[in-house]
Amino acid sequence: NHQLLLASRPQGEVTPDNFRMVEAPVPSADDLADGQVLVRHHYLSLDPYMRGRMNDSKSYAEPQPLDTVMIGGTVGEVVASKHPKFAVGDKVVGMGGWQEYSVVDATERGLLNKVDTTHIPLSAYLGSVGMPGVTAWYGLIKIIQPKAGETVVVSAASGAVGSVVGQLAKARGCRVVGVAGGAEKCRYVVDELGFDACVDYKANPDPKSFYKALKEATPNGIDGYFENVGGMVLDAVLARMNAFGRIAVCGMIAGYNGEPTPMQNPALILVNRLKVEGFIVSEHPEVWPEAMTELGGMVATGKMKFRESVAQGLSAAPEAFMGLLKGRNFGKQLVKLI
Ligand code: NDP
Repeated sequence: NHQLLLASRPQGEVTPDNFRMVEAPVPSADDLADGQVLVRHHYLSLDPYMRGRMNDSKSYAEPQPLDTVMIGGTVGEVVASKHPKFAVGDKVVGMGGWQEYSVVDATERGLLNKVDTTHIPLSAYLGSVGMPGVTAWYGLIKIIQPKAGETVVVSAASGAVGSVVGQLAKARGCRVVGVAGGAEKCRYVVDELGFDACVDYKANPDPKSFYKALKEATPNGIDGYFENVGGMVLDAVLARMNAFGRIAVCGMIAGYNGEPTPMQNPALILVNRLKVEGFIVSEHPEVWPEAMTELGGMVATGKMKFRESVAQGLSAAPEAFMGLLKGRNFGKQLVKLI
């Protein structure tokens, strides 16, 4: 059982030597205690929140201890079980971490969940029909509360969360504008995902030209903003917000390596009478059933499209994770383990 441990804490950007690969014996069915399940992971999910866990400082979650298996969402297959509700061959989603197998105490509610792969591919349970999808659903539906005809903007638009935000808002009759890095991502967001427009912040690196491009894409102003990045994008959006607009603050990835992301004009929150609300998806388990019904239905019927960046093998995980924090991924970042 190959495992990747957190070997040291990054100073600024993540480097490969922040991780250490070790090999432990694969647990056997005889090792399982009552209630435990042995899972072979098919995919590991790489997510921006992991960067925060690598730091020493406490955020909304405790830091990950050094020399332990990196935290992470996984999907896989039950290979041995001493829990009556899980059988060998069941497909499951859980938090198995950066390793090939995990032993899970399935008596603890919510730690391991069976998933139905008849109409939805297993990997999607780490993306559109998983934590990122529910994140999109919560921020858009519960905080932004979009109405038909309103303009909704989302940053990191081609990514796991952003792609779902835009498609959910389109389904509710909104004008949807993405912000993404590069022409290829912007083309995808408009042509494949059906957004109305997309602003390429890399083609408009200075705040003035970015604001001009955003203004052209939002002729009626902005009613709802789903924030994933912070920095220059947030400043430009604030200046385009309509009165009584809503901002769901989901992520600030532009500052995850400690870069400063100052807000130039917070008075615009007052001037535009905005509602600004941050949220952490794991604190809202109550919305999962409703969110999953809508997301699962849309994915199963092809109404929700998604794209994945798949790295091959556990040893590729550190490089892929560093890429995610630099926008080298294109869609949900996964690591395929078998
Ligand atoms: P993505 O699939 O969107 O991948 C991250 C993307 O962020 C990159 O592809 C890149 O897109 C963009 N990015 C990276 N660095 C920068 C930068 N310096 N400036 C602007 N954009 C950058 O990841 P997720 O969909 O998984 O996550 C999106 C956001 O949602 C993150 O901020 C994450 O922390 C947050 N999140 C929050 C949760 C919560 O509970 N609050 C739960 C889950 C996610 P591009 O090339 O277009 O720049």
